[in-house]
Amino acid sequence: MDAQRIGSRGLLCTFDDLLSSEYACLTNIYLIAGERHTFIIDTGLGSAWVEAALDEFHRRFEFRSPIILTTHHHWDHVWGHAAVPEAPVWATPLCRDFLARDGERILKELAACRRGSASIRLPDVLVESALDLAEEALTIFPSPGHTPDGLSVFDRRDKTLVAGDALEWPVPFIDPGPPMPDLETYIATLNRYLHLAPDVVIASHASPAGLELIAQNLSYLESLRDGTRYEPRGPNDERFDAYHKANLAALGR
Ligand SMILES: [Zn+2]
Repeated sequence: MDAQRIGSRGLLCTFDDLLSSEYACLTNIYLIAGERHTFIIDTGLGSAWVEAALDEFHRRFEFRSPIILTTHHHWDHVWGHAAVPEAPVWATPLCRDFLARDGERILKELAACRRGSASIRLPDVLVESALDLAEEALTIFPSPGHTPDGLSVFDRRDKTLVAGDALEWPVPFIDPGPPMPDLETYIATLNRYLHLAPDVVIASHASPAGLELIAQNLSYLESLRDGTRYEPRGPNDERFDAYHKANLAALGR
């Protein structure tokens, strides 16, 4: 695990276990040292990841009553939830529905990806609309797009946005569902991100970035909506091709 302090109170923990797999990606767990709580944003592939992240957190910050925030229901974000049993799990209502629907089946199908113990723990607290935690200077809000159950976190003190998989490098990945993806809703989420004007943008499978990652993801989605050609930039053509092909299939094109 690689750990990196972000701003005054963030800790980005990055795991490379999936880099050599078919998923070929880094995966992040992000922690925020709040006033009253330690916020653990996603828990990855199991107890081994969460425990490593918490060990690192303890070395750098004061650990307070933990809360787990779930960016969405996908397996690579939730399997370690049970490793912090004292932490309530927050997520959108749809996230709870999807975990109840698919969680146990995917846990069995992808058992080889577990790290430490992994299980499905359903959310305790449902976030139906944006929540401003005044004392913590955090905004927690639904961010549908990659999946309909997305949840994002904006640290207003450090101006850090934690977007889960709603942002990806070089372009977003649209989950095929069910339910059918909704491009307009996804675009609205990214416009909301832009309006927050974050200094740092944390995506679950990318390196820390800035506003340009939001703008790039947004212009790609707009090109899909408008049927215009998108020119991939940078040395990620192969990854772009794979994502683009999957996105077209997800949209039934
Ligand atoms: Zn993911």
